[in-house]
Amino acid sequence: MKKYNFNAGPSMLPREVIENTAKQILDFNGSGLSLMEISHRAKDFQPVVDEAVALIKELLDIPEGYSVIFLGGGASLQFMQIPANFLIKKAAYLNTGTWAKKAMKEAKHFGEVVEVASSADDNYTFIPKDYSVPVDADYLHITTNNTIYGTEIRKDLDVNVPLIADMSSDIMSRPVDVSKYKAIYAGAQKNMAMAGVTVIIVKDDELGKAPREIPTMLDYRTHVEKGSMFNTPPVVPIYSLLETMRWLKAQGGVKAMDKLAHERAKIVYDEIDRNKLFRGTVATEDRSLMNLCFVMNDEYKDLEKPFLDFATERGMVGIKGHRSVGGFRASCYNAQTIEGVNALVQVMKEFEAQH
Ligand SMILES: *Cc1c(COP(=O)(O)O)cnc(C)c1O
Repeated sequence: MKKYNFNAGPSMLPREVIENTAKQILDFNGSGLSLMEISHRAKDFQPVVDEAVALIKELLDIPEGYSVIFLGGGASLQFMQIPANFLIKKAAYLNTGTWAKKAMKEAKHFGEVVEVASSADDNYTFIPKDYSVPVDADYLHITTNNTIYGTEIRKDLDVNVPLIADMSSDIMSRPVDVSKYKAIYAGAQKNMAMAGVTVIIVKDDELGKAPREIPTMLDYRTHVEKGSMFNTPPVVPIYSLLETMRWLKAQGGVKAMDKLAHERAKIVYDEIDRNKLFRGTVATEDRSLMNLCFVMNDEYKDLEKPFLDFATERGMVGIKGHRSVGGFRASCYNAQTIEGVNALVQVMKEFEAQH
């Protein structure tokens, strides 16, 4: 039976990305060696990094003066690396979910942190909109897509200070005005690659301003200067990232991904709103196009487990909601197809017809 992958992360990747990466793992560029066996300094690997960086810059239309680096440690390491490099005196954070809160906690190791607004009291069911950012804040940190709760800030906010964004779960799904950001980071395993690499976009002339000693590995300048080759980078994940970027470009880039994201999400949200069994969990205007969360309506609560089983039997993978929300979450990253969401909707309709 055909499987439809709605995993929240690591998550679905285009089939050709997986196949092309697998080929290189068996024989890298006809060298007779595996991608897993070569040195990151081998002459054939440098072009992989260079092309991946160039494609990210092209696809996101990154202006001059920004560097793209690849590190390990996940987005979680960035929660502390960002303030280590960018927090001079005071940083502002918008608390929109679990990841935002974790980022804020780590920033407190480095200076004053101001929570400008939070939707924690409402279980993060909306994105706060009325707040002011201290004019002397070094940056406003936002989580553009809240993977767990299914809300999203799908635009580049207009605020009085530069932005820094955790875009782990919606990077490359829409055009971004990078000039508004001091830094953008993303664990690649949601929308860009297999797990193991983190992509960080930094504004070069904002580096080196923080009034502290930064250990070598944590200083972005180390990795900018060495082109992500200061130490051994995650070679295979970077290769899979390159393949995804090639695929993305061939699909028409981030504009095409944005259009597809709207189409997919509309198909699923329309069904959630129409189907008597289900309801959405967050404010309609803040609904994520990437992680579509829904629960059983109160009078059908007992059907939660039966629906999960029903859907699983029909090939749906990974739709169980995160434990902090319950219910269901259909993650629809760039690789998710219209066929996939139609299959999910079909299952929702069939289940409704039986009850
Ligand atoms: C998954 C996720 C993270 C954590 O990423 P790791 O790479 O596992 O550290 C952080 N932020 C967001 C928005 C995420 O979706």
